[in-house]
Amino acid sequence: MVSTLHRLAIALLLLPLFAAGCTSTQQFPSVSDQSASENAASTTEKLDVVATVLPMYLFTKAVAGDAANVEILIKPGTEVHEYQSTPQDVQAIAQADVIVENGLGLEEFLDSTIENAQNSNLIIIDASEDINPVGEIGDVVYPAGEDAEHAEDNAGGETHADSDAHANDDAHAANDTHTHAENPHVWLDPILAIQQVENIRDGLIAVDPSNKTTYEANAAAYIQELQNLDQQFQTTLQSFSDRTFITFHDAFPYLAKRYNLDQKAIVAIPEDSLTPGDVQKTVEAVKQFNVTALFSEPGVDNKLLSSLSQDLNLQVKTLDSLESGALEPQYYFTVMQQNLRTLEEAFKGGSSN
Ligand SMILES: [Zn+2]
Repeated sequence: MVSTLHRLAIALLLLPLFAAGCTSTQQFPSVSDQSASENAASTTEKLDVVATVLPMYLFTKAVAGDAANVEILIKPGTEVHEYQSTPQDVQAIAQADVIVENGLGLEEFLDSTIENAQNSNLIIIDASEDINPVGEIGDVVYPAGEDAEHAEDNAGGETHADSDAHANDDAHAANDTHTHAENPHVWLDPILAIQQVENIRDGLIAVDPSNKTTYEANAAAYIQELQNLDQQFQTTLQSFSDRTFITFHDAFPYLAKRYNLDQKAIVAIPEDSLTPGDVQKTVEAVKQFNVTALFSEPGVDNKLLSSLSQDLNLQVKTLDSLESGALEPQYYFTVMQQNLRTLEEAFKGGSSN
């Protein structure tokens, strides 16, 4: 009895291996129709992988190539930090084999979504596994109109226990200025990006060992590009003695730490209900930091920024946090090289003044 079961188990394991090269969905002889169709579905078809946010999609697609189907959950153009799951997300997760998430608190919304999807076979790959998160770097400057609750949170970072409560708060949705207990933006440091790619590679190999060599080769090529990018950042930025900056989205502490950039403060920029007094108070608060560069995000244009720019006599330049953009693995390098040029121009302008 035992040996019969044993042989049957081996037969079930081996059959899909022989069928892996076939493109048609074959039926395997088996103990029951149900298990036969489940086996066929899980082995002759490509792995269905859902990546949560753009950088996770780019890294996963780079590693998977054509060996797996990779979809993105939070479509480009959607606010990442205050995201709320849709019924389509639940369905996508219900049908996926694997979900790749950035981790470090970025995908808090996923817990209930995964629960609702009731997919007991789902494998979760945490791309930030074994990465040490940084806390906050520098001060946070809030315009007077912002609630005092934030000012008190500066030191420890916000735990986000109340994230559902203000998910519909327009000011928050439009401009995420939240400081997370763990800053999730690790993908903006090319060296930590390598670690994320390795985590994704190892996770995919564990689930789909038949494509091990493909995942390894794809990951190696992408990691080589990330190493080259790191070299470019190091070479370009080391010549500037003054690398002070202020940003409006707490997305760059890992990049700053890696290349010895000095982020003096993070400025909260609500678009709504900002009085001239608020603007003036913020300008005064920021003036004292005496920085070389002001970095905003793509698509942000408001009167607080233009006032800051005028009063500090500094141009506001755009750093892209890669939370939105093209669904193409090379897009990471396009944006990061643009970010490097922006940093270079900003610090160059600073030292000649
Ligand atoms: Zn962000």
